[in-house]
This record gives sequence, C-alpha cells and structure tokens, in this order.
Amino acid sequence: MQQGDEMTDSVEKAGEKLRLALQYIGKFKIPMTPQNYSIWYEFAGGANKELNKAIDEILKSTKDFPEEVNVNLYNRFIADSSKVQGEKALKGIRKVLASMSTQLTDTGGAMSSSGDVVGFYAKQLKEDLDTQGVRLIVEGIVNETEKIISSADNLKSELDESTKEVELLRKELDKVKEEAATDPLTGLPNRGALEQHMAAEIKKSANQGTDLSMLIVDIDFFKKVNDNYGHLVGDDILRQTATHMNTVLKGVGIAARYGGEEFVALLPNASIGKAREVGEKLRKFFEVFRWKRYDNGKKISPITISIGASTYRIGEDKEEFIKRADDCLYKSKEGGRNRLTIEDD
Ligand code: GH3
Ligand code: MG
Ligand code: MG
Repeated sequence: MQQGDEMTDSVEKAGEKLRLALQYIGKFKIPMTPQNYSIWYEFAGGANKELNKAIDEILKSTKDFPEEVNVNLYNRFIADSSKVQGEKALKGIRKVLASMSTQLTDTGGAMSSSGDVVGFYAKQLKEDLDTQGVRLIVEGIVNETEKIISSADNLKSELDESTKEVELLRKELDKVKEEAATDPLTGLPNRGALEQHMAAEIKKSANQGTDLSMLIVDIDFFKKVNDNYGHLVGDDILRQTATHMNTVLKGVGIAARYGGEEFVALLPNASIGKAREVGEKLRKFFEVFRWKRYDNGKKISPITISIGASTYRIGEDKEEFIKRADDCLYKSKEGGRNRLTIEDD
C-alpha cells in the first residue's frame, strides 16, 4: 500500500477498514497489539497486495496466527512502510489518552471544556486513522494534555496556597479573639468576656427558668498590699487570687477579672442559697490561706476579701443584676470587710 492511498482514505473508508480489521482480529483471536492492528488494517484495505496474498495463504491452510507469524507478516509487509510512523503514533495516543483520563478524573468538573476537546479527538481517532490524520490528532491531544496538566497543577497549588492562607488567618483571628477576651495579668476572662458570658447565661436562665447568681469579690485593703510589698508582689497576689477563684469555682461557675482588684464569679443554675454557700467557701479560702512573697518566699500578712451576691431577676438587664451585687459588696465593706452579703441579709 502506498502512502498516498493511505492519506487519501476518506473518513468513511478509514472507519470501514477499522471495523473490518477488528472483526478479523476477533475472529482469529489475534492479540490486539498496535502491530497486529496495522497488519489487519492494511489487509482490510486490500491495497497492500503482497500482504493480502500472504494472509490469504494462511487463511487457506491453518487459519492460525501465532506470535511468530504476526511478527513475520509485520516485518515483511508493514515495517518498511510509512505505517511504522502511524503505528508509533497510535502507541503514543494510547498512552496519552490513558494519562489524560486519569488527569480528567483527578480534576473533576473543572476541566470539562478540555474534556470535550479530548472527546472530539477520541472520536476522530475512531473515524480517521491515516498517518497524517493520526499525527494531527496526536499533536492536538498532546497540546491539550499539556494544557490540562499545567492548569490542573496550577489549580491544585492555588487551592493549596489559599487553604494555607485561610488556615493561617483563622488561627490569627482565633488568637486575636482570645487575647481580646483575656486579662493578660491573670489569664481570666476580662470584663468584656464576662459581659458576653453573662448575656448568654441570662438568656439561658430566662428560656429555661433556671437560677443565675453572681458574686462580686473585692480584695480588702489591697492598696496596702501594694504599699507594703510593692506593685510586683501586688500583681502576684492578683494572679494567685485568680488561681484560688478557679479552684473554688471549679464545676460551679466562671471566674472573671472585673477590673483592678475586683473579680466576679458567675454561677449558672445557682439559687441565692447556693451563691451564699460558694461565696462563703471562697471567703474562708482567703482567710486561712498562708500567703507568701513570690520573690523571696517571706510571709505576707493575711489577705481577705469582701463579697456581694445577687440572683438574676427576670426582665432586668445585666447592669441591674451587677448593681445589686455591687450594693451588697458595699455593705460587706461597710460592715467591716472579710464578709459576704446577699440581698436577703
Ligand atoms: P478596700 O478594702 O476598700 O477595697 O480597699 P482597697 O485598698 O482594696 O481599695 P482601693 O480601691 O482604695 O485600692 C485598690 C488598689 O488596687 C489600688 C490600685 O493601685 C490597686 N490595683 C488595681 N489594679 C492593680 C494591678 O493590676 N496591680 C497591682 N499591683 N495593683 C492594682
Ligand atoms: Mg476595689
Ligand atoms: Mg479593695
């Protein structure tokens, strides 16, 4: 067969040759290799007279096409023709298509337009298999594959990049949020965070009809602590106060630094009776605690606290709730300090 004939095969003719070749390959149980495929494609065309003669001989006798026969046919009638090029191209196409289908599966819907182009070439491949056509198709597919691979790579690294970016921002934001809600000296929730907790607990208490109480705690004569031991020791006493509050309030409520040497304990599900119990425990804890200077371990004279307690009344806002506790605290101070006052008293 001449290259000229090959190149002028119409789409219909090429398709017909392809179907015939496949029929022979199936009928004689010939392995579907590119080499065998070119042998039977040529045979179906009928233009390679020598090849057809040789095959006709075999069909008259054994009808058997073992490996060595196929190789022999290929070497004698095909290998030296321009078909070699087309056959190599076919091999290439197969590889390219295999890698492309993986790429397309990996990228999912994002590459659908390229997928269409691939579909187009795949269709061409079925219809038109002359050497020139094959080369064009291969070039097209290779180009398209390169495009797909690079855009898939870009897409993936862009996604990775923005995921990292978002993750970093989220962490940054969490950190800022936490810092904004935390008192840096004691690590307790600050006043802003306390008010948020309080708003949430008020809502819960109103919805569920549960009690909500609070304690306001103020260190007695704290100014003297600073004067006697210095501001740094004062700071440490505030830190220890936070630790003591957390210890006593564990499982009962939330401790917060309200400001200066004032702290608040928010007590969800606590009646005024429960608030008295917790407040009294806290007061005693301070009363008996053996304070020491953080810097030289020397003893510090006793430090006491005064407390005011209130229980939330339906309908009031948090300022009123706090004010009633604060009024009680004032009474504790007036009454001599180191004491707890609740509204009933
Ligand atoms: P009272 O028994 O009436 O509460 O007397 P007090 O001395 O505790 O109250 P006063 O309001 O007169 O003084 C509070 C002191 O707390 C004054 C202030 O310097 C001190 N203080 C507030 N914040 C800090 C702090 O962060 N660190 C230290 N070291 N001292 C603080
Ligand atoms: Mg005070
Ligand atoms: Mg004080």
